[in-house]
Amino acid sequence: MPIFMNHPRLAARYRLMAVLVWMCLLAWGAVPGFAEHPATRSGELRFAVAGDIMAHESQLESAYDETCGCYNFQPVFADVMPLFKEVDVAIANLETTLPGKNYSGYPAFGAPDTLVDAIQSSGINLLTTANNHCMDKGKDALIRTLRVLDEKKIPHLGTYASPADYNQHHVFLLKKNDMTVALLDYTYGTNDIPIPEEVVVSLIDKEKISQDIASARKQKVDAVIVLFHFGREYLNSPDAFQREMVEFALEKGADVVLGGHPHHVQPYQKRTVKDQEGRETQRLVAYSVGNFVSAQRKPYTDGGMVLYFTLVKKSDAAGGGTLDITGVHHKLVWVYVESGPRRKQFHILPVESYLAAQKPQLKPQAQTAQTAQTAQTAQLKLPKNALLSMKQFNKRVEKVLKAKVGPAPKQPVAGPEKELTGG
Ligand SMILES: [Zn+2]
Repeated sequence: MPIFMNHPRLAARYRLMAVLVWMCLLAWGAVPGFAEHPATRSGELRFAVAGDIMAHESQLESAYDETCGCYNFQPVFADVMPLFKEVDVAIANLETTLPGKNYSGYPAFGAPDTLVDAIQSSGINLLTTANNHCMDKGKDALIRTLRVLDEKKIPHLGTYASPADYNQHHVFLLKKNDMTVALLDYTYGTNDIPIPEEVVVSLIDKEKISQDIASARKQKVDAVIVLFHFGREYLNSPDAFQREMVEFALEKGADVVLGGHPHHVQPYQKRTVKDQEGRETQRLVAYSVGNFVSAQRKPYTDGGMVLYFTLVKKSDAAGGGTLDITGVHHKLVWVYVESGPRRKQFHILPVESYLAAQKPQLKPQAQTAQTAQTAQTAQLKLPKNALLSMKQFNKRVEKVLKAKVGPAPKQPVAGPEKELTGG
C-alpha cells in the first residue's frame, strides 16, 4: 500500500487518479473483455450472399454414412469456409425442408437436420426459407424446419410457424456493429401446394412489400434489404417479372434487392441515385446469385456466386444519414462431384482459388504469399476434366455477369406459374 494512504487527502487523490486511469482504459478498449473484435467496425456491416442450397436425391445418397447410419454433409461445405471468414453476415437460401424422416430430393425436398450443421460450420449465419419448396413436405415439416433452425441457433426468415410468429418476426431486424438493417424475404409461390392458415409463407405481394418496407423504415433502420425467390428458371438475364419487382422494391425504399431461384447467375449492379432530400445515395441489385449447391450439372447450373458488399452508415452534420454500399464484388463457386469407390462426394469449391492454385505452371518456388494462401484453400487435386468444367463455368458466368439488363416493363407482369424441372 503506498505510504500516502495514511494521509486522508492524498489517499482520496490517489483513488480519484486510479478511477480516472481505469475510465481511460475503458474508453480505449484496452481492458480485456471490453475490447471489440478487431475485425468489427462500428457503422459498417459486411455481407456475403450465397445462392440456393438444394438437396437432390444423389446428394442425400452421397452424404449417407452406413457406418453410423447417419448423414454427413461436412465435406460438401468444407472448402467454402474461407469465403465467409471476413464477413459479418453470410446469407444463403435453404431450398429444402427438414422433415426429420422420409428424406427425398426433387420434387418433394426433405433433408436430414445435419445438412444445417454443415451449412453452419461453413460460416453461413442467416438462412432464408421463403421459396417454392418450403411446403414440399406439408405444414408440419415447415414448422419442424423452423424449430430445428431455432434449436441450432441459426437465424432465419421467410416462413413462419403461425400468424403470430409472422406478425412478430417478418420484418427481420439485424443489429450488429452499431447498425440496424431490416431484411424482408418473399417467394413467388409454393409450386401450387396450398398454404394452410396455421402457417405463413411470405409471398410476393406488392401491397405487403410496400407495407413491410414502410414499417421497417418507421423503425429507423439504417438499411432495408429485400430478398426475392423469383424468376423463370434457367435464364441468364432477369425476366420481366424480376425486373418489375426489383424496381418496385427500390421505389418503395429498399436499398439492396437480392434474388435467387433461376439456378443461373444473373447480372448485378450498383446504382447511385438521389434520395428524397436530393442527397446522393447508393442501391445494389442482384437478380439471381444462382445455385450454391445442387446436383444439377447442365451449363450454368453447376455453380453460382457469392456476392459481397458492405453497408456503411454515413451521418451528416444535420443528424441525418445516407448509406454507402462499398466493396461490391463476387466470387464464383463450382460444385465438384468426386466419384469414389462406393459413392459420390459433392464439394462446393471457390473457383478463383482453385484455378489459381492448380495452374500447371505454378511451381512452388514461384509462389507469392498470395498464391501460397490460395493453394492452402485448394486442397483437392482436381482431375483434368473437372478442372476443365470449372474453367468453362468460370468463363460462361463471367460473361453473363458483364451483360446489360433491359429496363423494367411498363405494364405489370405475372410471376412464373410453375417451375419447369429440377428444383
Ligand atoms: Zn426455387
